[in-house]
Amino acid sequence: MPVTPTRWLAEYAWLPEHAEPTPDVLIEVDDGRITAVTPLTPGSRPPAGVEVYADAVPLPGLTLPGLANAHSHAFHRALRGRTHGGRGDFWTWRDQMYAVADRLDPETYLALARAVYAEMALTGITCVGEFHYLHHRPDGGAYDDPNAMGAALVEAAAHAGIRLTLLDTCYLTSSVDGRPLAGPQRRFGDGDAGRWAERAAAFQPTDPHARVGAAVHSVRAVPADQLRTVADWARERQAPLHVHLSEQPAENDECRAVHGRTPTALLAEHGVLGPHTTAVHATHPTSADLSLLADSRTGVCLCPTTERDLADGIGPARRTADAGIRLSLGSDSHAVIDLFEEARAVELDERLRTRRRGHFAPLDLLNAASVAGHAALGWADAGRIAVGSRADLVTVRLDSARTAGVPPVGAFFAAGGADVEQVVVDGRVVVAEGRHLTVDVPVELSSAIEAVTPA
Ligand SMILES: [Zn+2]
Repeated sequence: MPVTPTRWLAEYAWLPEHAEPTPDVLIEVDDGRITAVTPLTPGSRPPAGVEVYADAVPLPGLTLPGLANAHSHAFHRALRGRTHGGRGDFWTWRDQMYAVADRLDPETYLALARAVYAEMALTGITCVGEFHYLHHRPDGGAYDDPNAMGAALVEAAAHAGIRLTLLDTCYLTSSVDGRPLAGPQRRFGDGDAGRWAERAAAFQPTDPHARVGAAVHSVRAVPADQLRTVADWARERQAPLHVHLSEQPAENDECRAVHGRTPTALLAEHGVLGPHTTAVHATHPTSADLSLLADSRTGVCLCPTTERDLADGIGPARRTADAGIRLSLGSDSHAVIDLFEEARAVELDERLRTRRRGHFAPLDLLNAASVAGHAALGWADAGRIAVGSRADLVTVRLDSARTAGVPPVGAFFAAGGADVEQVVVDGRVVVAEGRHLTVDVPVELSSAIEAVTPA
């Protein structure tokens, strides 16, 4: 592994709470942390090679803080481009997803997740939240190590060079009225929330790149009287707690029919909402739901490219933000892995709905993709180019076919993941010259997906 420089000179860097990027910023790093951030005054930048900053490595283009992918199911990447032949909706897609889930074991999962996380690194993602429910063998029996699948994900992230929050997901039933898990779902279940909590508590990775949080799969998958067990588990550990929420109108309808209230109200009643909680999607909330989320300081993770791909609908991003709810972003099903696309979709989807432009400032989109996502995953010290922050630096080319002639502040509307030139995670170079240093991403994706997709 080459020695990573500790002084960088960014042509442009996007500093916290700045409406637009700052030119000529010296960024100093020690032991994985940013130790100094010095914008050079106009005219003070010496000609190339002059000694004052001679040891600072130039970063041509725009340097952003690390991007956080707050919602991932790594194995869904195997479905990209395979589910579009016919008609259908979320539920028909889900059947195809289960066919892949059925074929995974700790070894094939490690290979697939390593390639997927490396693909994320290539696009500037320095941290991922894995919403993990593939816990057991296909018949529902435990592996010798009951957390072998979670361990495979932690190892995969280490190989890919990014941080991971493993959101160990409680998944017990297949419908809001409590039907048992069947077929490919059997491997998701622990029986009851108490046994879920026991298994989850036994998994304590010591790797510095990983931490463990919790998830309630949805109100479909955890009975109301067991929600509090999961919520308490997370609260006792001050760990992030995530939950799929109101992705589908059908989920709202079933929840009203069974419990006489919306999914958000049910979660509120059973202690699931709170400042460490992130509601994923929240595509179909009522106004009262948004008030419950805001009052409890629950965050919302939008996944616009997945919601678009699965025909879920357009979430009320502006109304959610106006309620005071912090927004983060996830690539979820990985139909696309590109947080630039997720971020601009927040604005562009709002335009389609309202037929007006200008709902979110570029800084809002950057914050959703970086600092808010890291916070939602329990890494409050990441996602900012600031003294004391983790040294995550994502440098985007401003001279590609897509970005040439674009002002740096416009990069979020012009650039894509393919324009990411270099990625530094915790002070270590993971991607250089647009290539992952240790993983041949296309080759590994091909072979890992071939191994788990039905012929
Ligand atoms: Zn999801």
